[in-house]
Amino acid sequence: MYEILQKIIKHPQKVQVDEIALILSKEEINVKLFALADEIRQRYLGKTVYIRGIIEFSNYCKNSCLYCGIRAQNKDISRYRMSVEQIIERARLVSQMGIKTVVLQSGEDTHYSDKIIAQIIEKIKEFKVAITLSIGERDFNEYKLWKEAGADRYLMRHETADEELYSKLHPNDSFRTRVEHLKKLRELGYEVGVGSMVGLPGQDDLSLAKDISFVRDFDADMVGIGPFIPHPSTPLRDAQPGTLTKTLKMIALTRLFLPDTNIPATTALGTIHPLGRQLALKCGANVIMPNFTPAPYRSLYTLYPNKICIFESDTACGECTKELIRSAGYTASDDFGYRRKFYERVTCRF
Ligand code: SAH
Repeated sequence: MYEILQKIIKHPQKVQVDEIALILSKEEINVKLFALADEIRQRYLGKTVYIRGIIEFSNYCKNSCLYCGIRAQNKDISRYRMSVEQIIERARLVSQMGIKTVVLQSGEDTHYSDKIIAQIIEKIKEFKVAITLSIGERDFNEYKLWKEAGADRYLMRHETADEELYSKLHPNDSFRTRVEHLKKLRELGYEVGVGSMVGLPGQDDLSLAKDISFVRDFDADMVGIGPFIPHPSTPLRDAQPGTLTKTLKMIALTRLFLPDTNIPATTALGTIHPLGRQLALKCGANVIMPNFTPAPYRSLYTLYPNKICIFESDTACGECTKELIRSAGYTASDDFGYRRKFYERVTCRF
């Protein structure tokens, strides 16, 4: 197994999915894997952690993803949409706190036309921040319009690279379509973020290994990995959640394969374990995304239950995140947080 880790470092393209699955299945390699991921992260990116303020501006969604609490069929939640003015005001607050990326996330809500989104982007750009859109699959010409309006990044997780599982979880959608969208976004010049859930029902170590090989081959600029958490108002309500250890292993492996990519310590990880995000930082993650959604909307963006930070005050998450980074032994960066791409591998002592 140690040889496989060395192969990942030296010849990542040659590593097979069954070798990745073996690492995922064995517990005795964990300590080594985590230490190696932190070493690689520090060699490439130092101790800095990028902060991105996220605004969840609408929980309307036309999709039916089996795992998601804001799926169209869920009648148990109140739906909200923030106005253009409200969104811009929140973005101003993010920038006033010295945070230089605004992430705009929502369900798949076509109420916001291509032109409205473009208008929001143009206004927010006046605050001199980078903008990440995370609003799901839209038309290719809309992606183009938004890029021209000033959007910098697009975050659209691939969810699972196991094609069969993808089809089961996403009625009327396919993994292939998702990849076509991701490729288009890259072609248009976005930094592209992907990512997946860990512990989905029907997902085994081989499925997870496919996620790792997908992010390697796609050379993703950001990879968000979080545990699946069953939501009581979805068809997967009785399923088991993903575990802390397996999620940390996925983060660490991603760091070994893509030493210079951006990896967030996700809110979902902080939800299943009180130190989930701190541990993620120690296993290769280098980004945190504090919540800037205002009350009363924040508690309604329930992708999964018991989400942390729901009852925090307006800007508390920005401050709290900085403290979290310090307490984990890292340094909060006030940079825009673009991927700093390395074209050659840096040697490491392992
Ligand atoms: N509509 C946007 C944003 C989706 S929500 C898009 O399609 O990209 C953001 C992410 O939350 C999803 O990509 C999914 O990976 C995650 N998510 C949704 N439901 C979840 C659950 N029950 N447990 C853990 N993560 C979940």
